[in-house]
Amino acid sequence: MSGTDAPTQAFIGGRWQSTEGTFAVTNPATGDTLAEVADCGRREAEATADAAVNAWADWANATAYERSARLRAWHDLIVEHKEPIARTISQEMGKPITEARGEVVFSSMFAEWYAEEAKRVYGESIPSQAPHKRLHVIKQSVGPSFGITPWNFPAAMVTRKVAPALASGSPFILKPAEQAPLTSLYFAKLWEEADGPAGTFQVLPALDPKPVADPLVNDERIRKLTFTGSTEVGKALYAQSAQTLKRVSLELGGHAPFLIFEDADIEKAVEQTMVAKFRNIGQSCVAANRLYVAPSIEDDFAEAYAEAAQKLTVGDPLSDDTQIGPLVDEGGLEKVKRHVQESVDKGAKVLTGGSARDGLFYEPTVMTGVRDGMPLMEEETFGPVAPILPYASEDEAVRQANKSSYGLAAYIWTRDLERAYRVAEQLDYGIIGVNDGVPSTPQAPFGGVKHSGIGREGGKWGIEEYLETKFISVGLD
Ligand code: ADP
Repeated sequence: MSGTDAPTQAFIGGRWQSTEGTFAVTNPATGDTLAEVADCGRREAEATADAAVNAWADWANATAYERSARLRAWHDLIVEHKEPIARTISQEMGKPITEARGEVVFSSMFAEWYAEEAKRVYGESIPSQAPHKRLHVIKQSVGPSFGITPWNFPAAMVTRKVAPALASGSPFILKPAEQAPLTSLYFAKLWEEADGPAGTFQVLPALDPKPVADPLVNDERIRKLTFTGSTEVGKALYAQSAQTLKRVSLELGGHAPFLIFEDADIEKAVEQTMVAKFRNIGQSCVAANRLYVAPSIEDDFAEAYAEAAQKLTVGDPLSDDTQIGPLVDEGGLEKVKRHVQESVDKGAKVLTGGSARDGLFYEPTVMTGVRDGMPLMEEETFGPVAPILPYASEDEAVRQANKSSYGLAAYIWTRDLERAYRVAEQLDYGIIGVNDGVPSTPQAPFGGVKHSGIGREGGKWGIEEYLETKFISVGLD
Protein backbone atom coordinates (compact mmCIF):
# COMPACT_ATOMS: atom_id res chain seq x y z
CA MET A 1 0.00 0.00 0.00
CA SER A 2 1.03 3.58 -0.59
CA GLY A 3 0.57 6.85 1.30
CA THR A 4 -2.93 6.61 -0.18
CA ASP A 5 -5.31 3.62 -0.13
CA ALA A 6 -4.20 2.58 -3.62
CA PRO A 7 -2.26 -0.65 -4.28
CA THR A 8 1.28 -0.31 -5.63
CA GLN A 9 1.79 -3.61 -7.45
CA ALA A 10 0.92 -4.31 -11.07
CA PHE A 11 -2.42 -6.01 -11.75
CA ILE A 12 -1.83 -8.83 -14.24
CA GLY A 13 -4.17 -11.71 -15.07
CA GLY A 14 -6.25 -11.06 -11.96
CA ARG A 15 -3.21 -11.09 -9.61
CA TRP A 16 -1.26 -8.36 -7.88
CA GLN A 17 2.38 -8.72 -8.88
CA SER A 18 5.65 -7.19 -7.78
CA THR A 19 8.37 -6.31 -10.24
CA GLU A 20 12.15 -6.34 -9.95
CA GLY A 21 12.33 -2.57 -9.55
CA THR A 22 9.97 0.14 -8.38
CA PHE A 23 9.66 3.85 -9.10
CA ALA A 24 8.65 6.75 -6.90
CA VAL A 25 5.41 8.68 -7.32
CA THR A 26 5.96 12.18 -5.98
CA ASN A 27 3.36 14.45 -4.43
CA PRO A 28 3.84 17.68 -6.41
CA ALA A 29 2.47 19.81 -3.57
CA THR A 30 5.08 18.68 -1.05
CA GLY A 31 7.85 17.06 -3.09
CA ASP A 32 7.54 13.96 -0.86
CA THR A 33 7.48 10.42 -2.18
CA LEU A 34 3.89 9.26 -2.03
CA ALA A 35 4.50 5.65 -3.05
CA GLU A 36 6.98 3.25 -4.58
CA VAL A 37 5.17 1.56 -7.45
CA ALA A 38 5.91 -1.59 -9.49
CA ASP A 39 7.98 -0.72 -12.55
CA CYS A 40 6.77 -2.95 -15.38
CA GLY A 41 8.66 -3.84 -18.54
CA ARG A 42 8.51 -6.21 -21.48
CA ARG A 43 7.96 -9.36 -19.38
CA GLU A 44 4.93 -7.95 -17.58
CA ALA A 45 3.54 -6.50 -20.83
CA GLU A 46 3.73 -9.88 -22.55
CA ALA A 47 2.04 -11.52 -19.57
CA THR A 48 -0.89 -9.07 -19.82
CA ALA A 49 -1.25 -9.76 -23.55
CA ASP A 50 -1.46 -13.51 -22.88
CA ALA A 51 -3.97 -13.00 -20.09
CA ALA A 52 -6.12 -10.64 -22.17
CA VAL A 53 -6.17 -13.08 -25.08
CA ASN A 54 -7.19 -15.89 -22.70
CA ALA A 55 -9.90 -13.77 -21.12
CA TRP A 56 -11.41 -12.52 -24.37
CA ALA A 57 -13.67 -15.41 -25.42
CA ASP A 58 -15.37 -15.86 -22.05
CA TRP A 59 -15.81 -12.14 -21.54
CA ALA A 60 -17.13 -11.52 -25.05
CA ASN A 61 -19.47 -14.52 -24.77
CA ALA A 62 -20.82 -13.51 -21.37
CA THR A 63 -24.23 -11.94 -21.85
CA ALA A 64 -24.46 -8.19 -22.14
CA TYR A 65 -26.47 -8.36 -18.92
CA GLU A 66 -23.56 -10.02 -17.11
CA ARG A 67 -21.04 -7.44 -18.34
CA SER A 68 -23.50 -4.72 -17.44
CA ALA A 69 -23.84 -6.08 -13.90
CA ARG A 70 -20.05 -6.07 -13.39
CA LEU A 71 -19.79 -2.50 -14.66
CA ARG A 72 -22.67 -1.42 -12.45
CA ALA A 73 -20.98 -3.01 -9.43
CA TRP A 74 -17.73 -1.24 -10.39
CA HIS A 75 -19.61 2.06 -10.64
CA ASP A 76 -21.15 1.57 -7.19
CA LEU A 77 -17.74 0.82 -5.65
CA ILE A 78 -16.17 3.90 -7.27
CA VAL A 79 -18.95 6.05 -5.82
CA GLU A 80 -18.53 4.38 -2.42
CA HIS A 81 -14.77 5.09 -2.47
CA LYS A 82 -15.17 8.66 -3.71
CA GLU A 83 -13.21 10.27 -0.90
CA PRO A 84 -10.10 8.03 -0.85
CA ILE A 85 -9.93 8.04 -4.67
CA ALA A 86 -10.19 11.84 -4.68
CA ARG A 87 -7.35 12.03 -2.14
CA THR A 88 -5.26 9.69 -4.29
CA ILE A 89 -5.80 11.90 -7.36
CA SER A 90 -5.05 15.04 -5.42
CA GLN A 91 -1.89 13.67 -3.86
CA GLU A 92 -0.44 12.10 -6.97
CA MET A 93 -0.95 15.01 -9.36
CA GLY A 94 -1.90 18.07 -7.31
CA LYS A 95 -5.54 18.62 -8.29
CA PRO A 96 -7.53 20.60 -5.70
CA ILE A 97 -9.55 18.13 -3.64
CA THR A 98 -12.96 19.64 -4.51
CA GLU A 99 -12.17 19.18 -8.21
CA ALA A 100 -10.80 15.69 -7.54
CA ARG A 101 -14.13 14.72 -5.94
CA GLY A 102 -15.89 16.04 -9.03
CA GLU A 103 -13.58 13.98 -11.23
CA VAL A 104 -14.37 10.79 -9.31
CA VAL A 105 -18.10 11.35 -9.82
CA PHE A 106 -17.51 12.17 -13.50
CA SER A 107 -15.37 9.06 -13.93
CA SER A 108 -18.00 6.86 -12.24
CA MET A 109 -20.58 8.12 -14.74
CA PHE A 110 -18.71 6.41 -17.60
CA ALA A 111 -18.99 3.09 -15.75
CA GLU A 112 -22.70 3.72 -15.27
CA TRP A 113 -23.34 4.88 -18.84
CA TYR A 114 -21.55 1.89 -20.38
CA ALA A 115 -23.18 -0.55 -17.95
CA GLU A 116 -26.39 0.62 -19.62
CA GLU A 117 -24.99 0.85 -23.15
CA ALA A 118 -23.67 -2.74 -23.02
CA LYS A 119 -27.31 -3.83 -23.39
CA ARG A 120 -27.88 -1.68 -26.47
CA VAL A 121 -25.25 -3.00 -28.86
CA TYR A 122 -27.75 -3.65 -31.64
CA GLY A 123 -27.29 -5.34 -34.99
CA GLU A 124 -29.32 -4.72 -38.15
CA SER A 125 -31.19 -6.65 -40.82
CA ILE A 126 -30.89 -5.39 -44.40
CA PRO A 127 -33.49 -6.00 -47.13
CA SER A 128 -32.13 -8.51 -49.63
CA GLN A 129 -32.18 -8.26 -53.46
CA ALA A 130 -32.79 -12.02 -53.64
CA PRO A 131 -35.87 -13.77 -52.21
CA HIS A 132 -33.79 -16.64 -50.83
CA LYS A 133 -31.27 -14.54 -48.92
CA ARG A 134 -31.34 -12.91 -45.50
CA LEU A 135 -28.77 -10.24 -44.69
CA HIS A 136 -27.72 -9.42 -41.15
CA VAL A 137 -25.15 -7.20 -39.48
CA ILE A 138 -23.92 -7.97 -35.99
CA LYS A 139 -21.53 -6.07 -33.75
CA GLN A 140 -18.77 -7.89 -31.91
CA SER A 141 -16.03 -6.81 -29.56
CA VAL A 142 -12.85 -5.64 -31.24
CA GLY A 143 -10.75 -7.79 -28.90
CA PRO A 144 -7.83 -7.22 -26.53
CA SER A 145 -7.25 -3.48 -26.32
CA PHE A 146 -4.31 -1.47 -25.05
CA GLY A 147 -4.72 2.02 -23.59
CA ILE A 148 -2.21 4.67 -22.60
CA THR A 149 -3.46 7.52 -20.43
CA PRO A 150 -2.13 10.89 -19.23
CA TRP A 151 -1.77 12.23 -15.69
CA ASN A 152 -4.09 15.26 -15.85
CA PHE A 153 -7.37 13.35 -15.30
CA PRO A 154 -6.09 10.10 -13.79
CA ALA A 155 -9.63 8.83 -13.07
CA ALA A 156 -11.81 10.07 -15.92
CA MET A 157 -9.34 9.29 -18.71
CA VAL A 158 -9.27 5.71 -17.44
CA THR A 159 -13.00 4.96 -17.11
CA ARG A 160 -13.74 6.77 -20.39
CA LYS A 161 -11.68 4.09 -22.15
CA VAL A 162 -12.01 1.05 -19.91
CA ALA A 163 -15.81 1.13 -19.42
CA PRO A 164 -16.80 1.06 -23.13
CA ALA A 165 -14.13 -1.57 -23.84
CA LEU A 166 -15.41 -3.84 -21.06
CA ALA A 167 -19.04 -3.20 -22.06
CA SER A 168 -18.24 -4.31 -25.62
CA GLY A 169 -16.55 -7.53 -24.44
CA SER A 170 -12.98 -6.37 -25.12
CA PRO A 171 -10.37 -7.00 -22.38
CA PHE A 172 -8.37 -3.88 -21.56
CA ILE A 173 -4.69 -3.42 -20.68
CA LEU A 174 -3.84 0.00 -19.26
CA LYS A 175 -0.53 1.78 -18.98
CA PRO A 176 -1.22 4.84 -16.85
CA ALA A 177 1.00 7.93 -16.83
CA GLU A 178 4.15 7.55 -14.76
CA GLN A 179 3.31 10.69 -12.76
CA ALA A 180 -0.08 9.38 -11.61
CA PRO A 181 -0.48 5.57 -11.73
CA LEU A 182 -2.13 5.11 -8.32
CA THR A 183 -5.68 6.07 -9.29
CA SER A 184 -5.74 3.39 -12.01
CA LEU A 185 -4.43 0.80 -9.57
CA TYR A 186 -7.23 1.81 -7.22
CA PHE A 187 -9.74 1.27 -10.04
CA ALA A 188 -8.23 -2.17 -10.74
CA LYS A 189 -8.68 -3.07 -7.08
CA LEU A 190 -12.34 -2.08 -7.31
CA TRP A 191 -12.78 -4.07 -10.55
CA GLU A 192 -11.44 -7.09 -8.68
CA GLU A 193 -13.90 -6.39 -5.85
CA ALA A 194 -16.68 -6.11 -8.42
CA ASP A 195 -15.82 -9.70 -9.50
CA GLY A 196 -14.39 -8.56 -12.81
CA PRO A 197 -12.91 -11.76 -14.33
CA ALA A 198 -9.12 -12.21 -14.40
CA GLY A 199 -7.46 -10.65 -17.44
CA THR A 200 -10.37 -8.40 -18.39
CA PHE A 201 -8.80 -5.26 -16.89
CA GLN A 202 -5.06 -5.12 -16.19
CA VAL A 203 -2.80 -2.27 -15.14
CA LEU A 204 0.91 -1.90 -15.90
CA PRO A 205 2.55 1.02 -14.12
CA ALA A 206 5.96 1.90 -15.58
CA LEU A 207 8.44 4.72 -15.32
CA ASP A 208 9.59 4.33 -18.91
CA PRO A 209 6.61 3.82 -21.22
CA LYS A 210 8.43 2.23 -24.15
CA PRO A 211 9.42 -1.20 -22.74
CA VAL A 212 5.77 -1.75 -21.85
CA ALA A 213 4.15 -0.05 -24.85
CA ASP A 214 6.34 -1.41 -27.65
CA PRO A 215 5.59 -5.12 -27.23
CA LEU A 216 1.87 -4.42 -26.88
CA VAL A 217 1.66 -2.02 -29.83
CA ASN A 218 3.64 -4.49 -31.96
CA ASP A 219 1.58 -7.53 -30.84
CA GLU A 220 -0.78 -8.82 -33.56
CA ARG A 221 -3.15 -10.14 -30.90
CA ILE A 222 -3.81 -6.68 -29.50
CA ARG A 223 -6.49 -5.40 -31.86
CA LYS A 224 -6.95 -1.88 -30.64
CA LEU A 225 -4.84 1.00 -29.36
CA THR A 226 -6.36 3.95 -27.55
CA PHE A 227 -4.20 6.83 -26.46
CA THR A 228 -4.72 10.15 -24.71
CA GLY A 229 -1.70 12.41 -24.52
CA SER A 230 0.51 14.65 -26.59
CA THR A 231 0.17 14.96 -30.36
CA GLU A 232 3.83 14.08 -30.79
CA VAL A 233 3.57 10.72 -28.99
CA GLY A 234 0.15 10.06 -30.57
CA LYS A 235 1.57 10.40 -34.08
CA ALA A 236 4.44 8.04 -33.27
CA LEU A 237 2.01 5.44 -31.89
CA TYR A 238 -0.24 5.84 -34.93
CA ALA A 239 2.71 5.12 -37.23
CA GLN A 240 3.82 2.19 -35.08
CA SER A 241 0.29 0.72 -35.11
CA ALA A 242 0.30 0.62 -38.91
CA GLN A 243 2.50 -2.48 -38.80
CA THR A 244 -0.27 -4.53 -37.21
CA LEU A 245 -3.15 -2.45 -38.67
CA LYS A 246 -4.69 -1.88 -35.28
CA ARG A 247 -7.87 0.06 -34.77
CA VAL A 248 -6.67 3.36 -33.30
CA SER A 249 -8.29 6.12 -31.24
CA LEU A 250 -6.24 9.18 -30.37
CA GLU A 251 -7.18 12.04 -28.04
CA LEU A 252 -4.35 14.50 -28.47
CA GLY A 253 -3.52 18.10 -27.72
CA GLY A 254 -5.74 21.15 -28.01
CA HIS A 255 -5.47 24.93 -28.17
CA ALA A 256 -9.00 25.98 -27.40
CA PRO A 257 -10.22 29.41 -28.51
CA PHE A 258 -12.90 31.19 -26.49
CA LEU A 259 -14.83 33.74 -28.61
CA ILE A 260 -16.60 36.36 -26.55
CA PHE A 261 -18.88 38.56 -28.64
CA GLU A 262 -20.09 42.04 -27.73
CA ASP A 263 -23.60 40.77 -26.94
CA ALA A 264 -22.33 38.18 -24.42
CA ASP A 265 -23.44 38.18 -20.81
CA ILE A 266 -20.05 39.36 -19.49
CA GLU A 267 -20.62 38.29 -15.92
CA LYS A 268 -21.47 34.73 -16.94
CA ALA A 269 -18.70 34.67 -19.53
CA VAL A 270 -16.16 35.67 -16.88
CA GLU A 271 -17.47 33.07 -14.46
CA GLN A 272 -17.43 30.23 -17.02
CA THR A 273 -14.14 31.23 -18.61
CA MET A 274 -12.59 31.04 -15.18
CA VAL A 275 -13.64 27.41 -14.99
CA ALA A 276 -12.72 26.68 -18.62
CA LYS A 277 -9.28 28.17 -18.05
CA PHE A 278 -8.27 27.51 -14.46
CA ARG A 279 -9.91 24.14 -13.77
CA ASN A 280 -7.15 21.61 -13.06
CA ILE A 281 -4.67 24.52 -12.94
CA GLY A 282 -5.11 24.93 -16.70
CA GLN A 283 -3.77 21.41 -17.30
CA SER A 284 -6.50 20.22 -19.61
CA CYS A 285 -6.58 19.66 -23.38
CA VAL A 286 -9.89 21.54 -23.57
CA ALA A 287 -8.64 24.47 -21.43
CA ALA A 288 -9.38 27.90 -22.92
CA ASN A 289 -5.98 28.89 -24.28
CA ARG A 290 -6.92 31.97 -26.30
CA LEU A 291 -9.63 34.40 -25.21
CA TYR A 292 -10.76 36.47 -28.21
CA VAL A 293 -12.82 39.36 -26.86
CA ALA A 294 -14.88 41.88 -28.88
CA PRO A 295 -13.09 45.27 -28.91
CA SER A 296 -16.08 47.12 -27.40
CA ILE A 297 -16.02 44.96 -24.25
CA GLU A 298 -12.33 44.05 -24.10
CA ASP A 299 -11.37 46.46 -21.33
CA ASP A 300 -14.36 45.64 -19.13
CA PHE A 301 -13.88 41.94 -19.65
CA ALA A 302 -10.14 42.04 -18.99
CA GLU A 303 -10.63 44.03 -15.78
CA ALA A 304 -13.36 41.72 -14.44
CA TYR A 305 -11.39 38.64 -15.49
CA ALA A 306 -8.14 39.74 -13.89
CA GLU A 307 -10.01 40.60 -10.69
CA ALA A 308 -11.62 37.15 -10.59
CA ALA A 309 -8.28 35.42 -11.30
CA GLN A 310 -6.58 37.36 -8.52
CA LYS A 311 -9.18 36.07 -6.04
CA LEU A 312 -8.44 32.39 -6.75
CA THR A 313 -6.98 30.64 -3.73
CA VAL A 314 -3.58 29.08 -4.39
CA GLY A 315 -2.43 26.47 -1.90
CA ASP A 316 -2.55 22.97 -0.47
CA PRO A 317 -4.59 20.81 -2.87
CA LEU A 318 -6.01 18.82 0.05
CA SER A 319 -7.66 21.92 1.51
CA ASP A 320 -11.32 22.47 0.59
CA ASP A 321 -10.64 26.17 -0.06
CA THR A 322 -7.90 25.65 -2.64
CA GLN A 323 -8.69 26.44 -6.26
CA ILE A 324 -5.15 26.40 -7.68
CA GLY A 325 -2.71 23.65 -6.73
CA PRO A 326 0.82 23.00 -7.99
CA LEU A 327 1.80 22.18 -11.56
CA VAL A 328 2.38 18.45 -11.96
CA ASP A 329 6.17 18.59 -12.21
CA GLU A 330 9.22 20.73 -12.86
CA GLY A 331 8.84 20.39 -16.64
CA GLY A 332 5.26 21.69 -16.44
CA LEU A 333 6.30 24.67 -14.33
CA GLU A 334 9.25 25.53 -16.59
CA LYS A 335 6.97 25.57 -19.63
CA VAL A 336 4.57 28.02 -17.98
CA LYS A 337 7.43 30.28 -16.90
CA ARG A 338 8.93 30.24 -20.40
CA HIS A 339 5.59 31.00 -22.07
CA VAL A 340 4.95 34.01 -19.86
CA GLN A 341 8.53 35.33 -19.94
CA GLU A 342 8.98 35.04 -23.70
CA SER A 343 5.61 36.69 -24.31
CA VAL A 344 6.52 39.57 -21.98
CA ASP A 345 9.87 39.93 -23.74
CA LYS A 346 7.99 40.28 -27.01
CA GLY A 347 5.66 42.97 -25.64
CA ALA A 348 2.77 41.20 -23.86
CA LYS A 349 1.45 42.72 -20.62
CA VAL A 350 0.69 40.89 -17.37
CA LEU A 351 -2.59 42.11 -15.78
CA THR A 352 -2.34 39.82 -12.79
CA GLY A 353 -0.06 36.99 -11.66
CA GLY A 354 3.00 36.29 -13.80
CA SER A 355 5.20 34.74 -11.10
CA ALA A 356 6.04 31.37 -9.67
CA ARG A 357 5.66 30.75 -5.95
CA ASP A 358 7.63 28.31 -3.78
CA GLY A 359 7.61 24.74 -5.01
CA LEU A 360 5.69 23.95 -8.18
CA PHE A 361 3.05 26.67 -7.76
CA TYR A 362 2.36 29.42 -10.30
CA GLU A 363 0.02 32.37 -9.81
CA PRO A 364 -3.17 32.53 -11.89
CA THR A 365 -2.12 34.86 -14.69
CA VAL A 366 -4.04 37.06 -17.12
CA MET A 367 -2.23 38.73 -20.03
CA THR A 368 -3.06 41.16 -22.81
CA GLY A 369 -1.12 42.19 -25.90
CA VAL A 370 -0.43 38.57 -26.82
CA ARG A 371 0.20 38.07 -30.53
CA ASP A 372 1.06 35.37 -33.05
CA GLY A 373 4.66 34.22 -32.75
CA MET A 374 4.57 34.17 -28.95
CA PRO A 375 4.82 30.65 -27.47
CA LEU A 376 1.45 31.08 -25.74
CA MET A 377 -0.12 31.12 -29.19
CA GLU A 378 1.88 28.29 -30.69
CA GLU A 379 1.98 25.60 -27.99
CA GLU A 380 -0.36 24.22 -25.33
CA THR A 381 0.61 26.09 -22.15
CA PHE A 382 -0.97 23.53 -19.80
CA GLY A 383 -0.92 25.99 -16.95
CA PRO A 384 -2.84 28.84 -15.28
CA VAL A 385 -2.22 31.51 -17.93
CA ALA A 386 -5.04 33.26 -19.82
CA PRO A 387 -4.13 35.48 -22.80
CA ILE A 388 -6.80 38.00 -23.87
CA LEU A 389 -6.75 38.96 -27.54
CA PRO A 390 -8.86 41.43 -29.52
CA TYR A 391 -10.47 40.77 -32.92
CA ALA A 392 -11.96 43.09 -35.52
CA SER A 393 -15.01 41.18 -36.80
CA GLU A 394 -16.88 37.91 -36.45
CA ASP A 395 -15.21 36.59 -39.60
CA GLU A 396 -11.81 37.45 -38.27
CA ALA A 397 -12.56 35.82 -34.91
CA VAL A 398 -13.50 32.60 -36.70
CA ARG A 399 -10.39 32.81 -38.89
CA GLN A 400 -8.15 33.32 -35.86
CA ALA A 401 -9.85 30.50 -33.98
CA ASN A 402 -9.41 28.09 -36.89
CA LYS A 403 -5.77 28.99 -37.50
CA SER A 404 -4.48 26.44 -35.00
CA SER A 405 -3.31 23.03 -36.14
CA TYR A 406 -5.38 21.64 -33.25
CA GLY A 407 -9.14 21.12 -33.37
CA LEU A 408 -10.42 19.77 -30.05
CA ALA A 409 -12.70 22.24 -28.23
CA ALA A 410 -13.85 25.80 -28.96
CA TYR A 411 -16.20 28.06 -27.03
CA ILE A 412 -18.57 30.87 -28.08
CA TRP A 413 -20.22 33.49 -25.88
CA THR A 414 -23.17 35.34 -27.45
CA ARG A 415 -26.88 35.90 -26.89
CA ASP A 416 -27.53 35.97 -30.63
CA LEU A 417 -28.90 32.56 -31.61
CA GLU A 418 -28.18 32.99 -35.33
CA ARG A 419 -24.60 33.92 -34.62
CA ALA A 420 -24.21 31.00 -32.24
CA TYR A 421 -25.20 28.49 -34.95
CA ARG A 422 -23.32 30.34 -37.71
CA VAL A 423 -20.05 30.39 -35.76
CA ALA A 424 -20.44 26.90 -34.23
CA GLU A 425 -20.86 25.42 -37.70
CA GLN A 426 -17.80 27.23 -39.06
CA LEU A 427 -15.43 26.32 -36.23
CA ASP A 428 -13.13 23.48 -37.21
CA TYR A 429 -13.32 21.72 -33.83
CA GLY A 430 -14.78 18.48 -32.49
CA ILE A 431 -16.48 20.06 -29.45
CA ILE A 432 -18.20 23.45 -29.26
CA GLY A 433 -19.45 25.04 -26.04
CA VAL A 434 -22.06 27.76 -26.69
CA ASN A 435 -22.40 29.77 -23.51
CA ASP A 436 -21.00 26.68 -21.81
CA GLY A 437 -17.47 26.47 -20.45
CA VAL A 438 -17.65 22.77 -19.51
CA PRO A 439 -19.40 20.89 -22.32
CA SER A 440 -17.79 17.49 -21.65
CA THR A 441 -20.21 14.84 -20.33
CA PRO A 442 -20.21 11.01 -20.47
CA GLN A 443 -23.17 10.62 -22.83
CA ALA A 444 -21.77 12.99 -25.50
CA PRO A 445 -18.91 12.48 -28.00
CA PHE A 446 -15.52 13.86 -26.96
CA GLY A 447 -12.73 14.15 -29.50
CA GLY A 448 -11.03 16.36 -32.00
CA VAL A 449 -10.17 16.95 -35.62
CA LYS A 450 -6.85 17.85 -37.30
CA HIS A 451 -3.89 17.32 -34.96
CA SER A 452 -6.20 16.77 -31.98
CA GLY A 453 -6.89 13.18 -32.87
CA ILE A 454 -8.97 10.42 -34.32
CA GLY A 455 -12.17 8.89 -32.97
CA ARG A 456 -14.57 9.84 -30.20
CA GLU A 457 -14.99 8.84 -26.58
CA GLY A 458 -18.24 8.97 -24.64
CA GLY A 459 -21.85 8.11 -25.43
CA LYS A 460 -22.84 5.66 -28.13
CA TRP A 461 -19.84 6.79 -30.18
CA GLY A 462 -17.41 5.66 -27.49
CA ILE A 463 -18.47 2.01 -27.60
CA GLU A 464 -18.34 1.92 -31.42
CA GLU A 465 -14.57 2.34 -31.11
CA TYR A 466 -14.47 -1.12 -29.49
CA LEU A 467 -16.85 -2.87 -31.88
CA GLU A 468 -16.32 -4.62 -35.18
CA THR A 469 -19.08 -4.84 -37.77
CA LYS A 470 -19.73 -8.36 -39.11
CA PHE A 471 -21.95 -9.05 -42.10
CA ILE A 472 -23.75 -12.42 -42.21
CA SER A 473 -25.49 -13.41 -45.43
CA VAL A 474 -27.78 -16.44 -45.16
CA GLY A 475 -28.88 -18.36 -48.25
CA LEU A 476 -32.12 -20.25 -47.66
CA ASP A 477 -32.41 -22.71 -50.56
P1 ADP B 1 2.40 14.59 -21.39
O1 ADP B 1 3.36 15.51 -22.03
O2 ADP B 1 1.10 15.19 -21.07
O3 ADP B 1 2.96 13.77 -20.28
P2 ADP B 1 2.74 12.35 -23.14
O4 ADP B 1 2.15 12.14 -24.49
O5 ADP B 1 4.22 12.44 -23.02
O6 ADP B 1 1.99 13.61 -22.57
O7 ADP B 1 2.27 11.20 -22.14
C1 ADP B 1 0.99 10.62 -22.16
C2 ADP B 1 1.12 9.14 -21.92
O8 ADP B 1 1.89 8.58 -22.97
C3 ADP B 1 1.83 8.76 -20.62
O9 ADP B 1 1.21 7.59 -20.10
C4 ADP B 1 3.24 8.44 -21.10
O10 ADP B 1 3.92 7.53 -20.28
C5 ADP B 1 2.96 7.82 -22.45
N1 ADP B 1 4.09 7.87 -23.40
C6 ADP B 1 4.99 8.85 -23.56
N2 ADP B 1 5.87 8.52 -24.54
C7 ADP B 1 5.50 7.31 -25.01
C8 ADP B 1 6.00 6.43 -26.02
N3 ADP B 1 7.03 6.75 -26.76
N4 ADP B 1 5.35 5.26 -26.22
C9 ADP B 1 4.26 4.94 -25.51
N5 ADP B 1 3.75 5.72 -24.53
C10 ADP B 1 4.35 6.89 -24.29
